[in-house]
Parts: sequence; C-alpha cells; structure tokens
Amino acid sequence: MVYVGGKICRAVKAVCAGYVEHHVPSDLDPFAALNAQISKLKFKLKCPDLDHPQARRDYFVIDIGSAEEWGKLGRYTLPAKFKKTPVSAPAAAPSSSGPRVLYWFRTDLRLHDSPALAHALSLNPSHLVPLWTWDPHYVYRQRVSANRWAFLVACMRDVSSSLTALNGRQKLHVVRAAPGQVIGPLLKRWKIDVLVFERDTDAYARMRDAEVTRVAGELGVRVVSVPAGRTLFDSDEVVRQNGGRPTMSMSQLVKATEKIGDGKPARPLDTPKSLPDPLDEGEMDLSDLEREIGIGVGHGTGAISDQEPKFAGAGDGDLNAVQRTLGSDKDVQFSVGLMGPQKSFGVPTLEEMGIDPKTVTTPHVGGESAGLAVLQKYIDNEEYVGTFEKPATAPTDFEPQATTLLSPHMHFGSVSVRKFWWDVQDVLEKRRKEKKHNSIEPVNLPGQLLFRDMYFAAHAKIGVPFGQAVGNPVARFIPWHLQSNYAIDEEGKYHSDGTYTVDDPQAEEYFRRWKEGRTGFPWIDALMRQLKQEGWIHHLGRHAVACFLTRGGCYVSWERGAEVFEEWLIDHEVACNAGNWMWLSCTAFFSQFYRCYSPTAFPKKWDPEGTFVRRYVPELERFDKRYIYEPHKAPIADQKSWGCVIKGDGIEKGNGEMKVYPKPMFDFNERRQFCIDKVKEAYRVGLYGDDKRVKSGEWKKLFSYDDRGAQRKEEANGVFGGVKRRKWDEQDSEERDLHLGEEDGNGGEREERHEHKDAKEQDRGKKGQQKTLDAMITRKKRK
Ligand code: FAD
Repeated sequence: MVYVGGKICRAVKAVCAGYVEHHVPSDLDPFAALNAQISKLKFKLKCPDLDHPQARRDYFVIDIGSAEEWGKLGRYTLPAKFKKTPVSAPAAAPSSSGPRVLYWFRTDLRLHDSPALAHALSLNPSHLVPLWTWDPHYVYRQRVSANRWAFLVACMRDVSSSLTALNGRQKLHVVRAAPGQVIGPLLKRWKIDVLVFERDTDAYARMRDAEVTRVAGELGVRVVSVPAGRTLFDSDEVVRQNGGRPTMSMSQLVKATEKIGDGKPARPLDTPKSLPDPLDEGEMDLSDLEREIGIGVGHGTGAISDQEPKFAGAGDGDLNAVQRTLGSDKDVQFSVGLMGPQKSFGVPTLEEMGIDPKTVTTPHVGGESAGLAVLQKYIDNEEYVGTFEKPATAPTDFEPQATTLLSPHMHFGSVSVRKFWWDVQDVLEKRRKEKKHNSIEPVNLPGQLLFRDMYFAAHAKIGVPFGQAVGNPVARFIPWHLQSNYAIDEEGKYHSDGTYTVDDPQAEEYFRRWKEGRTGFPWIDALMRQLKQEGWIHHLGRHAVACFLTRGGCYVSWERGAEVFEEWLIDHEVACNAGNWMWLSCTAFFSQFYRCYSPTAFPKKWDPEGTFVRRYVPELERFDKRYIYEPHKAPIADQKSWGCVIKGDGIEKGNGEMKVYPKPMFDFNERRQFCIDKVKEAYRVGLYGDDKRVKSGEWKKLFSYDDRGAQRKEEANGVFGGVKRRKWDEQDSEERDLHLGEEDGNGGEREERHEHKDAKEQDRGKKGQQKTLDAMITRKKRK
C-alpha cells in the first residue's frame, strides 16, 4: 500500500514501513534541499483506510539537522534523532470565503520573491490551484535540447515540492494541453473567480495571454497579469519611459529606469508561509473535460494538430523530433490525458517526452533550491561580488566557471532577478561602509542584469521581428549566406517559415562544421562541444563563436547561429539570444565590425596552456602548448607521437591509439578580411530589416547577390541530423585545406546607439560611444 519513491522515501520506509506516505515529493534532491538549508521534512501519515479523515491531516516531522544526517539519509539510514511525532496539521491558510484563484506558473518557477504569487495570495483565496500548462507550442515548436528539458523538469518538481511543504494538499498541477484551448474550460470547470500570472513580454506569450484573457473575460473571470517579476523593471514601462522606443543601448536603459523607482527595482518579497488548499479531488478531476473538449486519453499523440491554436510564425512539425531518441511511440506526454498518468497532474518525465535521460549531459541542476544555493554561495563570497568585472572573467575557466552561471535560473524564474540584484547590492553596500573597493556598472553584477533588462525591453517593444532579420526595424540588413525564408501572414507581417536558403554550399559546410565542433580551430570547437554537452558557455566564449560564424569567418546569417543556441542553451531566452546575436554580428547594438575575435590569439591570452581545449577536444590532450591552438602547425612526427594526426574535415575520427582532428576549414585572416569588406559594403548600402527592398527581395540587385541554383532547407535542429549532410565538390575540399595565418588579437567592442542613421553617420557615431565590458577584455585580465 505504501507509495514510496526516491531516496528520502526509501529511508522513511525503512523505519515506518506500512503507514507513512511521503509528503515531500519523491524526487526531492537531498543535496539541493540541504543547500537550501531545509532542515525539516514533513511526512504524511497514511492510514490503512484512505478515507479516514486523519489520512489527510496528520503529519510527522523529521528533523534533518546536519549535512552528516542528510548523508545518512542518502544511504537509507535514518538519523538517530528521527522522531515519529505526530504534529498538528501543516500551515495551510485557513479557508476563507474569498475567491477561487487559478495561479498560472510560467516564467516564475519559484516561491520566493514572486510578485504574482504574492498578489494571488493577497486576494485571500478560499482555494488556490497552482497550474502549469504543458503547452505543445513549447514542446514541439521551440528547439529545446534534452539538457534544457531536464533543467525545466527539475525546476517544476522543486517548485511542486515547495508548494507541498507549505500545504500537504498542494502541488504544481500540470495540465497537458495548449493554454488557449484548455484554460477557458478549466476556469469553468473549477469555477475560478480570478486568474493570476506573472507578465511575460515574449512575442508568443503576448499572443497566448491575449487569447486566454479574452476567453476569461467572456466567462466573467478576472485576469491579473502582474508585471516586473521576470525582469528588474517592467519592460513595457521601460519602453514607455524610453519614449516608446526599444532600448538599444545601456545608456537608454539606465535613463529609462531612473524614471522608474529611481533606477532601483523593488525589494524582493518573502516566500509565503502558508497556502490555501486546492479544490477537492473530485472537483479537480478532469476526466469529463477530456471527453468534452476532445483532448487527452484516446486522442492519440497529435498534440500539435489537435490542440494548438495556430499562431502566425509557428511552423509545422516537431522541431525536437531529433531529441526523442526513445522512438515516437514513446512520446506519450499528451496521449496520457490532461492530468497525466494516474490522473495525478504530475510533472511529465523525460521518458514520457520520448527523451532518453541518458542523453542529458549537463552538470547544471535546475530548481529553486539549487538556484538559491548557487546565489548564496556567491553572496557569501563578498570579495567575488565586490570585485566582479565581467571583462576580467576567463572564458576558459571551468569547474568552476568564472561567472555565476545563474542565467538558466533567471530564465526559468527559479531565482528571482530582484533577489539577485538586491543580495548583491547589500554586499556592495556593506563593502562601501567598510571602505573596500567595489567594481562599477556596467561591468559589475548589477550591470550584467541591466544588460538582460535592456534586451527584454527592446524585445518587448519589437515583438516577433526582434528574433529575425527580415521585418526587424532595428537590425541592419547584411546579405549573409544561409538566410531564413519568410512567410507573410494576413496582416502582411513577415515570419520565418522554418526553412533557409543554401545559396552557397561552402557556407553550409562551414555552418555544419561550426555546429558540430570540427572547424579545425580548437578554441571554437571546444566551445561548441561544451555548449552541446553542458548547455552553457561563458559570455566571451559566446562572443567568440558568434563572431566566428558571422562577421569574423564564415559569413553565415546570425539567424542560423541563434537557432543552434536556442536548441542547446539551458539558459535560452528569446530576447537575450537574439539581442546578443545581433550585437555580435554587428547588425544592432554594436557596429565595430572591423574588430574580430581571433580564434588563436584571444584564447591564448586567457589560457596559454590550453587546458580548456584539452578538456573539450580530448583528441588534442597530449599536444604541446605551442600548438594547442594551431595543431596543424605541429610537425607530423610530433602529431603522431601525441596520438592525433591533423587531417581531413573532422568526419573521420581515427582509430584506437591514433586519433584524427581536422585541419582549419579556412584561412582565418583571409576570411576575416572578406567578412569585413562585405559588412562594410552592407553598412554603405544601409538597409534595415523593415525596408521594403529587404522584404521584396530587391536587395539582391543592390548587392549583386546570386542565389541561382540555391536549395531550400529545413532549419537546422537536433543532433547534426536535422538536415541531411552532403559532400561538397572537390573545389570545396581544396578550400578546406587552407592554413591559418597569424592574427592580431581582438578586443574592444562598444555599443551602438541605434537610430536609423545611414552608414556614414553610424561610423562617425563611434566616437564618444560609451565603453562596455568587451572594450576592456584584452586589457583587464584577472588571474
Ligand atoms: P553572469 O556574468 O554571472 O551575469 C549574471 C546575469 O546577468 C546572467 O545570469 C544573465 O542573466 C545576465 N547577463 C549577463 N550578461 C548578459 C548579456 N550579455 N545579455 C543578457 N543577460 C546577461 N543569455 C541568456 O540568458 N540567454 C541567452 O539565450 C543568451 N544568448 C546569448 C547569445 C550570444 C551570442 C551571446 C554573446 C550572449 C548570450 N547571452 C544569453 C548572454 C550571456 O552570455 C549570458 O547571460 C551569460 O553568459 C550567462 O552566464 P552567467 O549567468 O554566469 O552570467
């Protein structure tokens, strides 16, 4: 009878077999909980007779106490001080005659500092249903790696545990359906009075929320969309304070925020101490609803076609098919019904998504508990916080990395951005009082968070086109290779249609090799492999690979790179990804296209021994440091004695003792010059993405762009397999054998103040622009 799962519960079973059911969800990670300083766990008494009223109301408390005792739990031995003491019911808020509230979790997988959740509780609800909709749009239409799915699922489980810890009857209720289709019926079925959520300014989210709000309005349900929980400042308000324009520079952002709360975000809110109950089990049950609206059990796996309201720009098909290595028949995430298996509203497992957990290779752990523990670790290190200067952090550091790695927690909302900001400010204030040196914005940690707000506000204003080249009013148009194809919707708006044009087979080859980490430039390959394996790379590593793919080597559209990042980053954020890709490709925010990152000189400065490369490109592990960034220059006898010969294009892996690593796929100096000339020409022509000549294709004449014989391809996604690999002709392979020359390093980047100036004006505008972090990279090296 006893349902037991996970380490803690097995521990409990050992002592209390037969009458204890876990109260803490079975998959709570004891170490994450320990890190979050959880010291007490409550366990629900399970009476043999489940209908017995005590079955729901009596609890045991285990005092976990110390790390040592956690360790014992991990080995399934209960700590000596474990006491089987029934205590009174958990701190459920007394039920009131207040409204029934549906709290919709989305970008806020946390209980601490959640303005939206605080608002929901301030309504003094009689019942509160914490909801997550498992939305086919995100499941099938956004590229997501197994690593990011795992991070998300960990966040969901953690928040569910925290809800349960506040009220034994509570948890995250996952309903598997598109919100546009299911929320209306849920509001009706559960007789909800108020729907509350944290405002999300992403383009898809805005459309989704508008639809849900419309449906709720028709049902007479009040909808409260609470701003500024996801960002330091409400992005829409930032745009208003910026004169209704997108924030295209830090100075614009800072000026706008100074008009909101004096440039300081609100202080974080406490975690709630209690929660009202959800509805009774019978009322929660959605079996009838499944039949009524025709989704769920028995309706196949056709979640996309069956459920999803069509939003402009959403392509057809499953962009994550390649992640589902367990086979399509294992993708049961929707066919098991609205409430999931056992009608438990449980968090979907990777297996239900058809994803093999073995393909999860990231070491980074999701969840509020883990995230807060990471934040606390840095906050405790006052020297680190006080002296943090982004340009001085090494992109080659790993275990530990040089920056906080809190970005995935920012993305899923498992750590509040305002808490991050204020915890840091408190340390800085303390150090100020102690007359210790503090670094300043924008290179310090609060400055980093402002960059995030800058991209969010720009995206909030521009919407869908922010993530694409055509139709984007702030992106310079550069006639890159491998551009996206677009469809035009009824309103005449341009949306990427899920394909791109291969106008140049060699560019396609460069792109494939970049993505697969076999360019023959060890620094670039190491970064791309780290990205794929771990889902995170340092900011300057992102700079290096993004510059290399676009204006500093391959001359491939930034949209291709952004797609790969979308798939593999665990911190992928539409606004930050597109914004930073535009920055790096000099299409927006930044315009110094003649400054490129060298794939050899730049990493050498940070890591002369090549430790980072040895870690992620193990073929080169034994190479002498003289050749670690240019292994093709090593004498062939040395290559052999170090166990790896440098030849080919990286498809051949070698055998046994003798490994193979590719030659550089091009001469970097030549390619850099080629790109600079091309981008210069594009700046001279001076088109932006919303120009009618860009939309009509007239730009091709202006640039003598020849795409005759071009192929249309599906967008790249998945493990090198989204697009069929093709062997290019002999001429291309000769090209691949080119050797690298010397390069003169790189460095300064300044932000671009965007206004629709022409190219000359832009160039003149370089003078006097505010320096940013990247300008200091080569000068300020810590260590
Ligand atoms: P820290 O240096 O510890 O900074 C603290 C926080 O500040 C980060 O967690 C992040 O939330 C924020 N931050 C720092 N730098 C930036 C920045 N340039 N832009 C926006 N926010 C920033 N970041 C994402 O969160 N999601 C993305 O999809 C993303 N894509 C990127 C694509 C490219 C091409 C580039 C160059 C950068 C991208 N970034 C993205 C920004 C940045 O690289 C990461 O936010 C940062 O590396 C995360 O590591 P961290 O948490 O250790 O950062």
